[in-house]
Amino acid sequence: MSPFLSTIDNLIKAGKTASINKEVILKLQNPDRFVEACIPVRMDEGNLKFFRAYRVQYDNSRGPYKGGIRFHPQVDLEEVKALASLMTIKSAVVDIPMGGAKGGVSINPKELSEKEIENLSRGWARVFVDVIGPNKDVPAPDVYTNAQIMDWIEDEYSQIIGKKTPAVITGKSIKNGGSLGRDKATGLGSFYVFENLLSKLDLGNNLKIAVQGFGNAGRVFIDYAVQKGYKIVAVSDSKGGVYNKDGLDIERLKVHKKENGSVQNFGALKNISNEKLLELDVDILVLAALENQITRENANDIKVKLILEIANGPIIKGADKVLEEKEIVVCPDVLTNAGGVVVSYFEWSQNIKNEKWTEKDVNIRLKEKMTKAFNEVWNMSKEYKVNLRMSAYIVALRRLEKSIKL
Ligand code: NAD
Repeated sequence: MSPFLSTIDNLIKAGKTASINKEVILKLQNPDRFVEACIPVRMDEGNLKFFRAYRVQYDNSRGPYKGGIRFHPQVDLEEVKALASLMTIKSAVVDIPMGGAKGGVSINPKELSEKEIENLSRGWARVFVDVIGPNKDVPAPDVYTNAQIMDWIEDEYSQIIGKKTPAVITGKSIKNGGSLGRDKATGLGSFYVFENLLSKLDLGNNLKIAVQGFGNAGRVFIDYAVQKGYKIVAVSDSKGGVYNKDGLDIERLKVHKKENGSVQNFGALKNISNEKLLELDVDILVLAALENQITRENANDIKVKLILEIANGPIIKGADKVLEEKEIVVCPDVLTNAGGVVVSYFEWSQNIKNEKWTEKDVNIRLKEKMTKAFNEVWNMSKEYKVNLRMSAYIVALRRLEKSIKL
């Protein structure tokens, strides 16, 4: 089942379970608008190249469309549509007044120079200038896009409309109106959800954690977990992983990764493959890399008690059922990784009101939002006797139903 159809399947099931208005569910199976464009880019060698670009505006019944822009060779309309549907659910789960959208360009940015990426980013702003805007659609970074790219898009948009408009996009540099705390928001938000979840589950002491993915989100989660005394026994990146049953020295591992480009071959420790990391006999598995990591093929070999989905869509549809039968608790992406969009919303709010919040203030508000969302999802799962993914969808649908009816 494609990621988009998985979301639709979850929507239909959650809608039936919680008796959500059928027309609301039907509306949410149909994105509001697809915009596809072609961006001409003058390359360094003087030739002109054309790149396909997309923006899917899924639903804005709760506020302006919101969602990142991905620069990746695998980007196509189907993927952008799936990610836009998840954004709609995510914004509603954490109760921010934003809708769902996603954008992308089908390109391998590693093959472009910095100047060419700037031309492409400014081109993205030009082709979508009519559909984005602070009260219409507010993009943000995603895979292979960053604060510099957001700054270029904001600058191009502002020049075209003739007015400095930082609230048109989030994830900007701090100097250009970005929010303090945005860089750590996804990992920290996941950690808040994790601690709330542990307080409800009886998983025992001296818990061992394995983390797939040592990037922005995974590393921040690990930092907070280590600070609180949790033991990280395995970590992996795209080249493979490293394992020590007594725990890893994360600070030294970061230096090692910086110097060697991978976490593997860390001192005398054992290397493990990404596949083996998933199957380790530990207590908690944190998925912070890519989609489609746990499938029907490997779901039976997973031995943990709890899985935290920091990545978007790391467990495919059929595998969810197998994990549930094995009584493994799965904390879903639409709740776990929503800290990023929460602080994006904080950035937008600060820009609109011309305010600048301290990092402490941002983190306090983030904690409040994530804790409230967690409690609502947890209580809904008890009320309907459903897993946390289903209850997160129900929480979101209840809110979407109200605003769509209005
Ligand atoms: P990132 O690019 O900083 O890090 C990704 C990490 O995954 C890297 O360490 C990379 O080496 C590793 N990786 C890649 N392929 C792998 C593989 N086959 N096996 C194991 N590791 C592999 O990205 P990120 O920002 O940390 O995002 C990670 C996930 O979290 C993505 O699914 C992203 O969509 C999701 N997410 C991120 C944010 C955010 O704000 N950063 C917000 C919401 C969701």
